[in-house]
Amino acid sequence: MYDIFTRIREGLEAKESRRIPTKTLLNLNPSSQACIDLSTNENMGTCLRQIWFNKNDFERTNTMPVNNISNLAGNWYEDWFVSELKNCGLYYNSSFPATDPQRLVKGIVDVALLNPVSSEIELGEVKSYDGSNYYGSQSVLGNKTIKPKPKDKHLLQAFRYSLIFKETIKVNNLFYVDRACSTWNKNKQFKIELNTINGISYPKISTVWNEEYYEYTDTRISDKGIYLAEETLLEYFGTNTVPPRDFIEEYSSAIIEEKYASKEIPDYLYTKHKRDPLNNPIGSSSCKYCPYSKGLCKTYEDSL
Ligand code: SF4
Repeated sequence: MYDIFTRIREGLEAKESRRIPTKTLLNLNPSSQACIDLSTNENMGTCLRQIWFNKNDFERTNTMPVNNISNLAGNWYEDWFVSELKNCGLYYNSSFPATDPQRLVKGIVDVALLNPVSSEIELGEVKSYDGSNYYGSQSVLGNKTIKPKPKDKHLLQAFRYSLIFKETIKVNNLFYVDRACSTWNKNKQFKIELNTINGISYPKISTVWNEEYYEYTDTRISDKGIYLAEETLLEYFGTNTVPPRDFIEEYSSAIIEEKYASKEIPDYLYTKHKRDPLNNPIGSSSCKYCPYSKGLCKTYEDSL
């Protein structure tokens, strides 16, 4: 038997490995958006140092094997969503640029759609997630007691586009499509609008929770915090200086105990670490998935 699935897999993986980063003029992409939380003065988005390494074409030191087919499947879910929008007659545009030339920001918005109730154009970002994964789906959908919420990275991206189009388009949407294609209620929509308080704009997020309308404002994210992060980053590029770490790759014992006590570290991770601390370090999840951890980042002096 000729193994067709292995052939498909090899083809998809080869396509992935041929994707060579192209050296272009510097621009900041909202898909890796940084943002200073004004209440803590800390970056709650993508690490400035990570963006700096990436834009300076540093070699990745933390590469993960691509085992998940959905990671290779690229934009299938987005394409499906856009084609269904067309079928419903709600499609307006897709894959169009969003720019803020003053801060060298450039990204591509997934879709623009026509809201048939308000007759207004809205933006949309389409994300997929694994609805069959208990923790993954709970973090987006919530449950009876945990409120649904979008992932920070996606909310930051959508909010950045909302800021760029704020004079003409009032609503953005985050659409989560369940890759496991289980039930319709595992697909989730969040509506994002600007909530301006004392001259600072924050994202107001609305969705359905326990069959009721639910909305909140995320005050960790703001236009001021985003502009501050971008301007700080541009200064690092301008002076060719590597930014300090925004996150901690390996927590000290004292921090681990503190985070465990405040339930920020789950039991299973803590127990595993205690059994063999050297082989099971605990650190920020941003570092865990950062392409420059486990090597490059450590080789630079940092300010922590
Ligand atoms: S390893 Fe952590 S601190 Fe270093 S660049 Fe990556 S996210 Fe930033």
